[in-house]
Amino acid sequence: KLQKINYPTEGEVIKRDEKGKINVNFPVIPYIEGDGIGPDITKAMQLVVDTAIKKCYGDSKKIHWWEVYAGEKSYNLFGEWIPEDTMEAIRYFKIAIKGPLTTPVGGGIRSLNVTFRQKLDLYACVRPVRHFSGVPSPLKEPNKVDMVVFRENTEDVYAGIEWEAESKEALKVIDFLEKEMGKSVRPDSGIGIKPISITGTKRLMRMALKYAIDNGKKSVTIVHKGNIMKFTEGAFRKWCYETALEEFRDFVITEEELFNEHRGEVPAGKIVIKDRIADAMFQQILLRPEEYHVLVTPNLNGDYLSDALAAAVGGLGLAPGANMNDEIAFFEATHGTAPKYAGLDKVNPGSMILSAVMMLQHLGWNEAAELTVKAMEETIKSGIVTYDLARQMEGSKEVSCSGFAKAICEKM
Ligand code: NAD
Repeated sequence: KLQKINYPTEGEVIKRDEKGKINVNFPVIPYIEGDGIGPDITKAMQLVVDTAIKKCYGDSKKIHWWEVYAGEKSYNLFGEWIPEDTMEAIRYFKIAIKGPLTTPVGGGIRSLNVTFRQKLDLYACVRPVRHFSGVPSPLKEPNKVDMVVFRENTEDVYAGIEWEAESKEALKVIDFLEKEMGKSVRPDSGIGIKPISITGTKRLMRMALKYAIDNGKKSVTIVHKGNIMKFTEGAFRKWCYETALEEFRDFVITEEELFNEHRGEVPAGKIVIKDRIADAMFQQILLRPEEYHVLVTPNLNGDYLSDALAAAVGGLGLAPGANMNDEIAFFEATHGTAPKYAGLDKVNPGSMILSAVMMLQHLGWNEAAELTVKAMEETIKSGIVTYDLARQMEGSKEVSCSGFAKAICEKM
């Protein structure tokens, strides 16, 4: 069904067994190299991943990389920022990885990332955050940070509806609120509406709980501002607890049960369900990060928290991410295109490499994932880093983007 590009001739579509577990040895991975620094970090990532797979599995597993297009490269080739072919390819292969994309200025496109998320209904933005020893951090004990954020990706302010102050629409809404709902709003207000649904909340919590169970995580924390916004943020909390207790009862214990019935001793194998008000959570990630393992958040809280956590462990240059639904997993570097460094083979490919590590875990190729992380950790520890870290690490040796990738491969 593709219009402008052809399907690859080799490689497989990802298949799942009855339990939903992925079982594949020669998957096709569609990739979008991205704009600006995208091509440099994509090449570095592919070298590292291919080397790890070869070391772990010889010829019994292999990725068939297949380039698909989006962003400036696509615009130059096809006159479109995201061709329908690219969407179709991701729907068909159910997986993809991308470098950063330029956000087109003007022309009515909000952001290419948003377009992907909305068109493919990638309802969860998943961001693991951990520290790599040697990386400069503003925290005293950054090694205590090891969390995965599941941020809702389709609702809240993301699906926010807004009207400008004093516009016809805002005045109409204010009038409606006053006359029909008995609520008074200052007449020169801008108006925003943020929807949060049962459907959107429960599917996110379900994904986070499955992840926590599969990966032996000790707790899942619901982050919300329910004390102020009862029927959106507060309901988010309530629906998350319902999901945990109605669908995962055998696997979970609430914090309340823990202290009322178990004197604080977690029964073996149980995941503790906690909830925290968003502002308190920001304190907790600085003061007691070791008590948190998986965070589940509405869109805006998750946006702030993911970036704050990334900064706590040394910046966006090492922060991986994925946008997912029950079928499709779309992995991405979390930073932008850094146009200043385009084509200079200079920037840190860490974010892209760690996103690929998430991809290897998603495929169930855990040995290759672990080998990659270990090799990257050793490389950084030995002081071999790109310019962004080199300028903050005394006695380090600055290498290029590709040089960093080669150094990682040598540690495997
Ligand atoms: P940016 O992330 O490109 O740059 C912010 C800062 O971080 C710059 O100083 C840059 O040099 C540095 N930096 C970024 N990635 C780095 C890396 N891997 N190693 C070392 N240093 C790195 O953000 P920006 O300048 O605001 O945006 C530039 C373009 O990227 C815009 O077109 C924007 O829309 C786009 N963007 C895309 C995404 C995405 O595709 N996910 C995300 C953010 C921004």
